[in-house]
Amino acid sequence: MEIHFSCNIDIDLKSPKLKELLGNFCTIIQKLLGQFVQQSLHEFADYYMAQGTKPFSCDKCGNDQQFIWKTHRGKKTSLITIFGLLNLFQLQVQCKKCNHKMYLTRKLLGISARKRVPLETIRRLGLIGALTTFRVAKKIVGMFGVVLDKMTLWRCVQKLSEEVKFGLDPEERASGEADGTGIPIRGIKKRGKEMKVFVQLKKKGGIHVAGLSIGKYDSGWDKLFKPLIPDLKTFKEFLLVTDGDTSILKGLGEKVKVLFQRCLWHIPHQFKWYLWKDGVKRKSEEWIKALSQLIEISNVKSLQHDKECVEDIVLIKTEKLDGLITFCDKNGWKHCTSYLQNAKPDMFTSLSKKLSGKTTSRVERVMRTINMRINVGKWSPQGALNVNKIRLAHYYNGFEVD
Ligand SMILES: [Zn+2]
Repeated sequence: MEIHFSCNIDIDLKSPKLKELLGNFCTIIQKLLGQFVQQSLHEFADYYMAQGTKPFSCDKCGNDQQFIWKTHRGKKTSLITIFGLLNLFQLQVQCKKCNHKMYLTRKLLGISARKRVPLETIRRLGLIGALTTFRVAKKIVGMFGVVLDKMTLWRCVQKLSEEVKFGLDPEERASGEADGTGIPIRGIKKRGKEMKVFVQLKKKGGIHVAGLSIGKYDSGWDKLFKPLIPDLKTFKEFLLVTDGDTSILKGLGEKVKVLFQRCLWHIPHQFKWYLWKDGVKRKSEEWIKALSQLIEISNVKSLQHDKECVEDIVLIKTEKLDGLITFCDKNGWKHCTSYLQNAKPDMFTSLSKKLSGKTTSRVERVMRTINMRINVGKWSPQGALNVNKIRLAHYYNGFEVD
């Protein structure tokens, strides 16, 4: 329907300065929006009322044909839009069959009754609130004349996050990485919970976020992997680089073979902690010897391209690792010994399978995306999860709101 729209707005200006003009323009936009929406609703309503069968029906008896007008200027209803608060006179009609009176405005707009923030607004504010702090989001929309409280923004983020779904893409590479990062949680000192992320590598490079969960440190990995098991089963073989507890995936049976690769970048870092646990003095001769050997064993970056001697390299590295394990054992370093023994079977998977998957973490970048937003403030576990669902889906999976 073509609408001929014109409007008159009276504005009291104090000066012709740009600041004054732009300041008043925000007011004009809001008035313009109000009049535009109101007129459009009138014209559509009049057009529908002139038709035999209406695109709406009586809430009480279901009649969709006989109605009469009650008023074009009924009780006002208000909506929050990204252009500001919208106050509309409600259009009211009466059913000729049962005499029931009903408002048409929200039916025509396609939004539910009494809701102050419609879905269109929720989605846009939700994305802004996930990309920046609530304080900045409030400030930005405020500059365009929209007055919002942080709670509204927070609610929009929670609501929008429900739309985000993660999963593995069968068209992309049979390879992925999983890792965790600490999250500051309200009421818990330091970083109370761990956010766990699973990314899938894409054929054309880059990554796609396949799973996200929040829970305790060193546990709850099953919560991340469990929903992905049906997806994993669509692959013949899947290479997974992770330091997480992957026991849930070890029992997948014959259908899918998950190859594990420990993140080699993390290994020397974690080893330092076990050295400390075993009471080995930092920077002592044995400490330096053990750590430097492990750093050398874990460094495979420069060897990745040399496919002919991969098998020999794996053999040499495994022998060196065995030597280091014996060294730790002889010194009575119980934690170090068992840590290396546990890591050993999954350290050179991608090297020995001659798979091109890099063994350094690409999920690290995703962690920075998480931390940039999450380090501003303290969160509830669910709030932290929801804000990052939106962020990661937007940055890595092409999630948009319009
Ligand atoms: Zn009726």
